Amino acid sequence: MKYKRPRGTQDLFGIQMERWRKVERLLSGSAQRYGYSEIRTPIFEMSELFIRAVGEGSDIVSKEMYLFQDKKGRNLALRPENTAPVMRAFIENALTRRGGLSRFYYLGPMFRYDRPQAGRYRQFHQFGAEAIGSSHPAVDAEIIDLSLHVFRILGFQGIEVRLNSVGCPRCRPGFTERLKDTLQHYREELCGNCEGRIEVNPLRIFDCKDCQEIKGKLPLITDYLCAECRDHFNALQDILRGMEIDFTLDPLLVRGLDYYTKTAYEIVLPGKGAQNALCGGGRYDGLAQDCGAGFIPAVGFSTGIERLVENIPPSVLEEMGGEKTDVFFIILEEGGYPVALSRARALRSLGLKAEVELSGRSMKKQLKTAVDAKADYAIFIGSDELRRSEATVKNLITNQQDKIPFSNLETYFQNKGEQDLGEIG
Ligand code: AMP
Repeated sequence: MKYKRPRGTQDLFGIQMERWRKVERLLSGSAQRYGYSEIRTPIFEMSELFIRAVGEGSDIVSKEMYLFQDKKGRNLALRPENTAPVMRAFIENALTRRGGLSRFYYLGPMFRYDRPQAGRYRQFHQFGAEAIGSSHPAVDAEIIDLSLHVFRILGFQGIEVRLNSVGCPRCRPGFTERLKDTLQHYREELCGNCEGRIEVNPLRIFDCKDCQEIKGKLPLITDYLCAECRDHFNALQDILRGMEIDFTLDPLLVRGLDYYTKTAYEIVLPGKGAQNALCGGGRYDGLAQDCGAGFIPAVGFSTGIERLVENIPPSVLEEMGGEKTDVFFIILEEGGYPVALSRARALRSLGLKAEVELSGRSMKKQLKTAVDAKADYAIFIGSDELRRSEATVKNLITNQQDKIPFSNLETYFQNKGEQDLGEIG
C-alpha cells in the first residue's frame, strides 16, 4: 500500500469506535447535567492566538504547532488546545454581555507535533469544560468536581486530585526571579532542554521528567503567593473539604501552559508512569487580556479521550462492548433480499437494530456473523419461507423457533418488546 496514515494518528472503527461513542456520550451527558452547554470552534485558528495565549515559551507553541499559510498568506495553526479558542469565541461573540457565569464544554481533535508514544498522539481528542466569568473559588471546585465525576462514571478507581496554586502576574514574577537565581547554581545538573528553559520559561522545569532530583532543591511557588492568591487557594481547599473531595497538595505541579493563574490541578491514575495524568486544568484569569479583551476570570479542564479509552477498567469496557444487534436477517434465496431489506427497515422504525446479511454466503457462515454480532434473533428467509410468506424467527439465546408471517413481523417484535429487547420505539 502506497499510503499510510500520518505518524501519531489513529483510524478508529468497529468496537473501538463504539466505545469512543459511548465515552463521548457519557462525557457530554455529564457536562450537560452540570449545566455546561456544548461549544464548537474551528479546528484551525490564527496562529497568533496560541502564540499570545499559550505563550511562546511553552513547548506546545515553540515546538509542537502544526503551522501553515492559506492562499492569502494568513498564518494559521491546527489547534493544539481549545481553551484559547473558547475564550476567543466567548469574546468575539460578545458573550461577556450575558453577565454571570458561562459554562461550556467541548469535545474534538487537537494537534501537537509531539513524539508519538503510548498515550501520546499527534492528532488526539480532548473533552474539556470552561467556566467563564467568575473569580470565586467555588467555580474551581465545581470544575474539579465535574472532572472527577466523569472519571467516576467511567469506572476509574483510585484516581487522585493533585492541587497547587501557580500564583498570578503579581506574585509569580518574584518567584520566577528567585527560581532563575537558584537554577543558575544547578545549571550543570539540568538536562539540555531545561538548561535552555532557565531564561525562557523556568517554570517548565517542574514538568521535566529528567530533572526530578533538582526539583527538591528549588523554591516553591506556594511560598511566594500574594495575599489574594493565598486566600483563593485556602478558600478552594475549604470548599473541597466541605464537598468531601480528597486532594493532595503538590507544590511541584506547574502546568505547561502559560495562561494558568492561581489554581492548577491534575487528576492522576497512580502507577501509570509518565502518562499518568488523565486530566489537567486550572484557572486562567489572564487569558482574556492576552486575547485583547478586559479582565474575564475563568477556570477549566481538559482530558485526553485516547488516554481515557485506553485506561478504562476492563469490566467497564466489557459492559460498553459493541452496540448489540436485535435482529439479523439471513437470506438463502435471491427473492429474499427485497423482503428482508423492507422488513428490516420496518423493524428499525420501531427502534430496533436490524442487520441484513448481504454476502450471499452459506447459511452457516451467515449464522456465525449473526452470533458474532451478538444478535438476539436470526430471521431466516429461504425458499420455504418465501413460498409460505412466513419467516423462521430463531431466538439465538433460547434457540426457540417461530414461524411468523412476513406481514406480522413488526407486531411480533413489538409484542416481544420491552421484555426481550429493551427499549423499543
Ligand atoms: P494539556 O492540554 O497538555 O494540559 O493536556 C490535557 C490532557 O490532554 C492530558 O491530561 C492528556 O490526557 C491529553 N493529552 C495531551 N497531549 C496529548 C497527546 N499528545 N496525545 C494524547 N493525549 C494528550
